[in-house]
Amino acid sequence: MLRSPIKHCRNCGTVVAYRLPDDGDTRERAVCTSCATIHYENPLNVVGTVPYLGDRVLLCKRNIEPRWGKWTLPAGFMELGETTAEGAARETVEEAGAQFQLEGLLSVLSVPRVSQVHLFYLARLTSDRFEPGIETIEARLFTEAEVPWDEIAFRTVRETLMRYFDDRRRGSIGVHTLDID
Ligand code: ZN
Repeated sequence: MLRSPIKHCRNCGTVVAYRLPDDGDTRERAVCTSCATIHYENPLNVVGTVPYLGDRVLLCKRNIEPRWGKWTLPAGFMELGETTAEGAARETVEEAGAQFQLEGLLSVLSVPRVSQVHLFYLARLTSDRFEPGIETIEARLFTEAEVPWDEIAFRTVRETLMRYFDDRRRGSIGVHTLDID
């Protein structure tokens, strides 16, 4: 989802104008017409995991828009004050109620169209029992052959899953850096 433009100053509430700041900046920013505060807008991080148990991965059926009813990996926007790994673990607990050991980074995906960066960590499941949160209709394990590839909610999730299964077949898990158009 593209973010809508800033309308009001976060400092004083006055309407902002998009213009080049006076400091030599080369991009138009939301500048307050009253107190001159410059509001910088930067990409957001989405953090999540590829939870696995043996040859199966955990997917969550979305109970929220967008892509209601489609399958996804546990993931969501980072919160202020947490690390990427903490955020990925938190989302995995919130969305799947999974028990796991967080492992290394698997993928970093830039999605410039929506100004997001998605990061997925591996998570070794220590139980096959899940307690899905309110954002999840169902959480279950899939082998590669069982993955509903046409029902995956997001391209970043599909690309990450494909690379995970490729790596597994090769017997070596790497870190994948991808740009999604
Ligand atoms: Zn202001």
